[in-house]
Amino acid sequence: MVVARHRPTKAIIDTAAITENIKNERSRLGQDTALFAVVKANGYGHGAVETAQAAAKGGAAGFCVATIDEGIELREAGIHAPILLLGVVGVQDIPLLASYDFSFPVASQAWLQEAENYLAEVSLERPLKAHIKVDTGMGRIGFLDAKAVAEAAKWLDQHTAFEWEGIFTHFSTADQADTAYWQQQHLFFQEVLSTLPHLPRYVHTSNSATALWHEQAVGNMIRYGVAMYGLNPSGHDLEAPISLKPALSLVSALIQVKLLEKGSGISYGETYITPQQEWIGTVPIGYADGWLRKMQGFSVLVEGEYCEIVGRVCMDQLMIRLPREMSVGTKVTLIGENHGKCITMQDVADQLDTIHYEVTCTLSARIPREYKS
Ligand SMILES: *Cc1c(COP(=O)(O)O)cnc(C)c1O
Repeated sequence: MVVARHRPTKAIIDTAAITENIKNERSRLGQDTALFAVVKANGYGHGAVETAQAAAKGGAAGFCVATIDEGIELREAGIHAPILLLGVVGVQDIPLLASYDFSFPVASQAWLQEAENYLAEVSLERPLKAHIKVDTGMGRIGFLDAKAVAEAAKWLDQHTAFEWEGIFTHFSTADQADTAYWQQQHLFFQEVLSTLPHLPRYVHTSNSATALWHEQAVGNMIRYGVAMYGLNPSGHDLEAPISLKPALSLVSALIQVKLLEKGSGISYGETYITPQQEWIGTVPIGYADGWLRKMQGFSVLVEGEYCEIVGRVCMDQLMIRLPREMSVGTKVTLIGENHGKCITMQDVADQLDTIHYEVTCTLSARIPREYKS
């Protein structure tokens, strides 16, 4: 998709906020605990390379991404710090793991077997940095029992093509007030660790929520994601122990303003009909930008006033009801601050019945990202 640069709609990313969010969490960690900034999915929609650079300034020692291609993007931008892939990779891509120096999860014995067969045919420029993934209750990827983990560890120790660099797990309820299931996962992971003859360099368990609310269990590395962008991982549920400064605002401008007579239909299906004479403004953003049709009825900010989105959101444009005549070119804030008022990512998520993670990832590639520090 092309980036629509010749349009007033843009996401403004405050890189200083990201640096500050990282610094604040970094200062709560011990000196020997590394913070890896999670910049998968284009930095949760904020831009992977720019947010990685901002995170590095705040003390991030490494980065996590979901896929090989996301890792390659960082390497091609000149980032030499450690990069951990979070998803399972196919053995046919082993040469890329070595050449780009990626760390990666090992999640099953079958994978190790396949890798052994594959490695009989190729030689690599450096050892493969494996992190054993333990599934302690997420039900996603990883070894399910201590015996299998111990066998995998032994296997890695015996195979010189591999360096056993890490062991980790992932919690499914760290963002909730009820900690019973979290405790169960935590105890299981401790039990698994206790059966191993030695531990690798990195032992890690923490996404943002575990880092914020279960700091007793971080191991010596954290995978810090959504909170680095200034968003509270629990949504409304738990208060964060540190201030989180949102990094992204979404702005546009009025491209047409008109006075419509009472009884005028607005947008497809004329789902809104002006109940009286009204000033209506048009804004160049729509569902192709990730501003979804469910946003009908929500408000945006213009000159510090909440203006309702009236009628259906179109692919590229939407209409809002203005309190008075306003000039074409007037700034419209869809997310962020405007004249002392604020629309948060959480407000948008609430309107869409989802979590803010999904909102940031849904803002499409058509919206240019502009960086300010
Ligand atoms: C995405 C992800 C994270 C980061 O999660 P946040 O909630 O954004 O902090 C950490 N670990 C794994 C395995 C992930 O997939």
